[in-house]
Amino acid sequence: YTIPVGEGLEPVLRIESLYKHFQLPGEKKVTAVDGIDLTVNRGEFLVLLGPSGCGKTTLLRCVAGLDQPDSGRIKISGQDVYRSEQGLNLPPEKRHISMIFQTYALWPHMTAAQNVAYPLISRGMKAKEAKERVERVLEQVDVSSQAKRYPNQMSGGQQQRVALARALVAGTDLILFDEPLSNIDAKVREQLREEMLEMQRTIGFTALYVTHDQSEAMHLAHRIAVLDNGKISQLDTGRAIYTRPENRYVARFIGRTNETKATVEADGVVATPFGRGHAEFSGGEIPLGQEASVAWRPENATVTRVTEPAGERAALTVEGVVAARVFVGMNVELLVSVGDETLLAIAPPDSDIIEGEQVRISVKERNLLALPTGA
Ligand code: ATP
Repeated sequence: YTIPVGEGLEPVLRIESLYKHFQLPGEKKVTAVDGIDLTVNRGEFLVLLGPSGCGKTTLLRCVAGLDQPDSGRIKISGQDVYRSEQGLNLPPEKRHISMIFQTYALWPHMTAAQNVAYPLISRGMKAKEAKERVERVLEQVDVSSQAKRYPNQMSGGQQQRVALARALVAGTDLILFDEPLSNIDAKVREQLREEMLEMQRTIGFTALYVTHDQSEAMHLAHRIAVLDNGKISQLDTGRAIYTRPENRYVARFIGRTNETKATVEADGVVATPFGRGHAEFSGGEIPLGQEASVAWRPENATVTRVTEPAGERAALTVEGVVAARVFVGMNVELLVSVGDETLLAIAPPDSDIIEGEQVRISVKERNLLALPTGA
C-alpha cells in the first residue's frame, strides 16, 4: 500500500489555528489546544500521541463537536463544521464522523447486528434496508458469524470488529478513536492492534486516533502528531520521528535516548564534554558558538572494551566505566558512567563485558543528532 501523505491528496479533516482553554475557579488557565493546524487525508491513519494532559482528548472532542473551541476552524470533507468567525459549531450528529471510545462501548443488551443497525435505525432508515447494510458491513469486517451474539459472547477482537462495523455502517468520512485499547491486557492489546492495522489497511477508513502508547502509535500510524502542551511538537511518519526527532521533547518521549550538552562549531562539529563529533542537525540549523543538545539512540552506537581496537569511523567516541549490566534477552544493557553522566549502551546478548570494565561507546556516523536546547 502507499502512504496517503503528501501533496495533492484529498483532505478529510482540516484543522486551522484551533484554540481551546479551560479555566476552573481558583485555578490557572489551561490552554489544552494551543494553535493546532492539522490535515488528515482520505485513507490516512493519523495518531495523536502524547503524555497525559497534553491535550489529545480535547482536540479529538473539538473535532467531534463534544467540546466547543475558543477560536479557529475545522472542516470535514470540505465542509465547515466549526468556524469561530461565523459562530458556526455543528453538533456531532451533523459532522459525518463516528467515535470509538475506550472498550468500544457496545450496547450489552443488543446483538452484534442490532448494535451495528442502531445508528441507521435511529436515523429513520427502514428495517429492511438497514438489515442489508448491516449484513454487508459485518461481512466487510469479517464477523458475519457473530451477528446474533451479544457482546459478552464475543472475543475482544470480535467486539472490536463490531465496534468498527458500527462506526463504518453509516458511511461516515472520519472515525475518531479515543484510546480504544488502553484498558486491555498487554497480550490481547497486541493482537487487537494487529487486527486494527489489518482492517484499516484493507478497508482504508480515515482515522484520527488518540493514544499515549508510543508502540501503538508506531504500529498503526501513517503519520504521528506528537503533542506537547496543546501544540504539535512534530508531525511525521513514525520512522522520521524516531530517527530524526526535531527537538528534545520528541527525542525523549519516543524511544530511549542518550543526551548531553554541547557547543556548535564549524562544519557540523559539536564539542561535547566527551569530545568532538560530527552531528546531523535534524531540528534545523543552530548558529555557530551556540549551545546545543546532542543526542543518540543507544542502538545506534557500538560498545567495546577500551583494550579492543577501535572499529570503523564513528561520529563520536566516549569512554567510561560500566556501572551496571542487565541481560534483557534480546541484548545486554550497560549503564556507563562518564564523569557525572550515565549513558545507556547496548551490547549483543552474548557480550561478556561486566561491571567495572572500561568501555568505549562509538556512535555510528549520521546518528549523532544536534537539537536546539530550548524545547
Ligand atoms: P489523558 O491522556 O490523560 O486523557 P490528554 O492528553 O487527553 O490526557 P486532555 O484530557 O485533553 O489531555 O487535557 C488537556 C488539559 O486540559 C489538561 O491540563 C486537563 O486538565 C485540562 N482539561 C481537560 N478537560 C477539562 C475540563 N473539562 N475542565 C477543565 N480542564 C480540563
